[in-house]
Amino acid sequence: MAIIGIDLGTTNSLVAVWKDGKTQILKNKLGDEMTPSVVSVEDGKILVGKPAKERLVTHPELTVSGFKRYMGMKKEFHLGDMVFSPEELSSLVIAKLVEDAEATLGEKVEEAIISVPAYFNNDQRFATKTAAKLAGITCNRIVNEPSAAALACRMQDMSVEQTFLVVDFGGGTLDVSVVDCFENIVEIQSIAGDNHLGGRDFDEVIAKKFCEENGIDFNRLTEVERGTLLRRAEVCKMELSKTTSTRMHFRMGEKEYSLEMTEDILIEIAGNLLLRLKKVMSKAIKDSGRTPRDITKVLPIGGTCQMPMIRIYLAYLFHKSVDEMPSGDRIVAYGLGTYCGIKMQNKDVKDVLLTDVCPFSLGTEVTNYLEPIRPIMSVMIERNTVLPAKISQVYHTTSDIPMFNIYQGEGYYAEENVKIGFLALDDLPDDIKGMRKHIELIFAYDINGILEVTAKELSTGQESSVTIVSANNPLSADEIEEKRNKMKQIGFVEEEENQEVIALASRIYEESVGSIRDRADYLLQMFLNILQSNSPIRIRKAREQILPILRSMELYVNTDVFDMEFEDDFEEFEEEDK
Ligand code: ADP
Ligand code: MG
Repeated sequence: MAIIGIDLGTTNSLVAVWKDGKTQILKNKLGDEMTPSVVSVEDGKILVGKPAKERLVTHPELTVSGFKRYMGMKKEFHLGDMVFSPEELSSLVIAKLVEDAEATLGEKVEEAIISVPAYFNNDQRFATKTAAKLAGITCNRIVNEPSAAALACRMQDMSVEQTFLVVDFGGGTLDVSVVDCFENIVEIQSIAGDNHLGGRDFDEVIAKKFCEENGIDFNRLTEVERGTLLRRAEVCKMELSKTTSTRMHFRMGEKEYSLEMTEDILIEIAGNLLLRLKKVMSKAIKDSGRTPRDITKVLPIGGTCQMPMIRIYLAYLFHKSVDEMPSGDRIVAYGLGTYCGIKMQNKDVKDVLLTDVCPFSLGTEVTNYLEPIRPIMSVMIERNTVLPAKISQVYHTTSDIPMFNIYQGEGYYAEENVKIGFLALDDLPDDIKGMRKHIELIFAYDINGILEVTAKELSTGQESSVTIVSANNPLSADEIEEKRNKMKQIGFVEEEENQEVIALASRIYEESVGSIRDRADYLLQMFLNILQSNSPIRIRKAREQILPILRSMELYVNTDVFDMEFEDDFEEFEEEDK
C-alpha cells in the first residue's frame, strides 16, 4: 500500500512518491512525468492526458481543460451528451494518475496527498477532496503548492532561516507567495496572484504578432483556426526556451504563412506581461512586511518560469544569478513526495510543520451610525494572517438578541463582501433585557479552513457558537468584482470631490494591511462624519486636509517595492562605473 503525492495542476499534473530515502517522480504509462489535465470523450469513453490534449484542437466540443479554475463552483461541462462537474473531471484525472502509478509501483495506492493553490478557499479544498473520493482514493491532507515547493528546497538546507519567494507561473494563473522556513516550520507569510495571467497570454501575444505580420485578422479566425494557431504559438514559445530564434508556420485554407520569431521579439511583445508579474510580486512582498532584500531565494515554479526571459527578469529584479534558481515545474511534486515521506513517518525525514495563511479577511458586520442602511465590515482576521489564528474582540449592543453576520472579503462595507455565516445569541436571560451588552466575539480559523465563531455575553457568560466549514455560495473573483461594481453603482450621490475622497480611502483600505489600513479606516470614518454636518465649508476644509494624506498613502500602496529597494544599490553601481 503506497501513499502518493499529486500535483493536480490546471494544465499538467504530476505524481511523486517517497522511495528508497528520496523523492521520485513517477512516469505515466506513456513514459512522461507530466500528464496534461485534460479530459475528452471518444465514443462514450473517457480519455485523459496527452491523447485528450491532442483532441482539444480536433474535437473541442468533446474535450475540456482548465476545469481546476472552477473547482468548488456550480458549473457544468457538456462533452457531447455527457455532463460533468469540475470535481468529476478532476476525479477522472486523479483516477488516471492513480492507475498509472499503481502500474509503475506494482502495488495499490491507498492514499493521496494533493496540492492546491494557497488561495483556494474551503469549498475549493473540499471539492478537491471530493474529487479524490470520487476517484476511489483517500485524501486526508491538502498541501498548499508554495509550501510544497518551499519544503522541497528546504530539505537541501535545513540549517539556516530562509525566506522564499515562490513564483508559480502556470498556464493560466500566476501565484506568488512569501514563505518563511525556520527549523522545521514552513510558514506562508503572504500570497498574491493574478487569475488571468499565465503561459496562455504569451501564446496569445505570439499568435497576435504572427497575424499582424502576416496580415491576418486574429479576431476573425474560426474557433478551430484560433486553437491551432495558439497551439503553434505555444510550440514556438517552448522552442524559444531552448534556442534564440525559430520559424513559426501556420496553414489557413490553401495558404501557408510563416514568421521568424526571436527571443528579442518575444521580449518586446511580452513586456506588458512582465510588468504585471512584477506588480503581483511587489504586492506579495509588501503584504509580508518584507522587502526584496529579505528574500533569500526565489523559486520560479510552473511551466511559464521555464522561459529564459522570465528567469533573467527575476534575476535582474532580485540581484541574483539565474543559476541560483532551481528549475521549476517539478518542485511542487518534489515537495509532495517529501511530504509523503513525512506522512509515512520515515526516519529519513524530520517531521515538518506546514502552516497556512488566510487568503482573505474575515469579519463581522457592525452598525454604520452615519449611514445605517450600509453596515461596515469590522475585520477580525486580516488577510494573510498566519493560520491557525484566534482573535477576539468586544462589541457593544443594546439588542436583546445580538446577531452577527459573518463575511469574507476586502470591501469596506459589509455588503461588498461575501456572507459566509450567521450567529445569534438568542437565549440571554430576561434580567439583562434592554441593557447595553458587551459581547466578546471570537474567531478561530484553522489550517483546514474551518472557521469557528463564538459569541459570549460577558456579564452572564452565556455563549453560542457556529462552525463554518464552507461558504454556501462561493463566488469567483469575477463575480465578486461584478457584485462590487453593482453595489458601487447603487451608492449615494455625493458631490464628485467628496466621492473621490471616499473612493480613494476605500481603495487604500482594500489594498493594504496593518497600520495603513487602520489609518485609511480612521480617515474614512472622520470624513463620513464631517459629511453628515452638511456644512460645505467644513467639508471642503476636511477634504483639503485629508486628500493629500490619502494621496501620499496611495503613493505608498501603489509603489512597487522594487523601485524603492535598490535605489541606493544603483547609485553604488554608478559610482563604481566611474
Ligand atoms: P499549471 O500549473 O497551470 O497546471 P504548468 O505549471 O504546467 O501549469 O505550466 C503550463 C504552462 O507552461 C503552459 O502555458 C506551457 O505553455 C508553459 N510551458 C511549459 N514548458 C515551457 C517551456 N519550456 N517554455 C515556455 N513555456 C513552457
Ligand atoms: Mg501548477
